Amino acid sequence: MCTDVIFYPTEEYYSPDKSMLELVFAPAEEWISCSDAEIIDATMKELAKLFPDEIAADQSKANILKYHVVKTPRSVYKTVPGTEPCRPLQKSPIEGFYLAGDYTKQKYLASMEGAVLSGKLCARSIVQDYELLLARGQKKLAEASVV
Ligand SMILES: Cc1cc2nc3c(=O)[nH]c(=O)nc-3n(C[C@H](O)[C@H](O)[C@H](O)COP(=O)(O)OP(=O)(O)OC[C@H]3O[C@@H](n4cnc5c(N)ncnc54)[C@H](O)[C@@H]3O)c2cc1C
Repeated sequence: MCTDVIFYPTEEYYSPDKSMLELVFAPAEEWISCSDAEIIDATMKELAKLFPDEIAADQSKANILKYHVVKTPRSVYKTVPGTEPCRPLQKSPIEGFYLAGDYTKQKYLASMEGAVLSGKLCARSIVQDYELLLARGQKKLAEASVV
């Protein structure tokens, strides 16, 4: 359920007797309509399993002082079977128009790695089309000069 659990032991948030936790629920389809209280309850149960010495679901050990639930529907696209062919190439069918982003065609799912790789592939496509783009630019320039 929790895909990311981030602790903040940095100086900015440091306290000898308090901790700050940030958690991501994914997939969130079943959670998005739940109340904040239900989400916190489920979070504590999950954390109690992960850190039984420090955390109990009933808060008899670590105690929540403050929380904030952020819901972001459609934050990442759903990778269901059959959708892979829908991912566009970085070089679009429109001349001179290129795409970068985790959703474009590359070997990873929606991720930081996918976003970085898509940027590299996009840059490579532009470099490969350099002569074409240059000629296109010069043609446009010539046309503009005639007018
Ligand atoms: C809660 C959450 C947790 C995640 N955890 C992880 C993780 O642990 N590891 C991991 O690898 N990935 C994780 N991801 C996925 C990762 O964040 C994304 O795959 C990655 O950021 C995608 O990068 P991107 O550049 O393709 O798109 P984005 O980072 O979405 O960038 C697109 C940008 O375009 C802007 N934009 C959109 N429309 C317009 C417009 N019309 N005009 C101008 N600007 C526009 C947006 O505001 C945004 O800044 C997570 C995502 C979420 C939501």
